[in-house]
Amino acid sequence: MAQIELKNISKKFKDDVVIEDLNLTIKEGSFTVLVGPSGCGKSTTLRMIAGLEKQSGGEIWIGGKCVNDTAPGQREVAMVFQNYALYPTMTVRGNIEFGLKNKGIPKKERHTLISDICEIVGLTPHLDKKPQNLSGGQRQRVALARAMVKKPEVFILDEPLSNLDAKLRNQMRTELIQLHKRLGTTFVYVTHDQVEAMSMGDEIVVMDKGVIQQADSPLKLYHDPVNLFTAQFIGTPA
Ligand code: ADP
Ligand code: MG
Repeated sequence: MAQIELKNISKKFKDDVVIEDLNLTIKEGSFTVLVGPSGCGKSTTLRMIAGLEKQSGGEIWIGGKCVNDTAPGQREVAMVFQNYALYPTMTVRGNIEFGLKNKGIPKKERHTLISDICEIVGLTPHLDKKPQNLSGGQRQRVALARAMVKKPEVFILDEPLSNLDAKLRNQMRTELIQLHKRLGTTFVYVTHDQVEAMSMGDEIVVMDKGVIQQADSPLKLYHDPVNLFTAQFIGTPA
């Protein structure tokens, strides 16, 4: 079943067309990776799904409902940003709890939720630390935990591992794949790295210059690229 549908989506910044007539169906429970060179429109696409950026034309459907007029906070999605966007003055617990307080969730329930999720992402020993005293990987986990406590239908991750060193990046890739299996939630993941895309996604969407070149399984993309761009980008002989 479709979790997200983008129908004839376009996006202009002033006179600059950055997305043109984009159509995409993201399956419920999939790990969908959007991959393409820098500047091709990946972040803009994610931001439109999350409602942080309004499309110039077209419709966005989430969970069978058109969300064109739905505020970001009301959409069943949670976004994890590349730069983590943590509150520097708050502890790990404070960062994760903030959104829950705003939602009016009672204290006891908040604490249970936070304990459960921090156990999953390995943050339990760090709950009282401030972001400045955490490693890159730990900060990334806080950003993840903060999205997870909202129990969204969709996780949106914009190059979440790009600030980590190679070893940690590999480890986090594996952890994210396991997390996806465990939660069964739809993941929409952006990267500019082909290897990362092919190793993580069960559905890969190759973008270039605001246009989807091909959306397929990794195997299909590898063996059957539809055009030269996809063939060269994915690294198969044309
Ligand atoms: P990606 O995430 O694939 O690197 P982006 O979605 O960030 O690409 O950007 C796509 C294009 O839109 C780029 O040409 C970028 O310069 C442009 N763009 C993104 N955000 C804005 C903005 N707020 N104002 C003007 N142009 C923008
Ligand atoms: Mg980007």
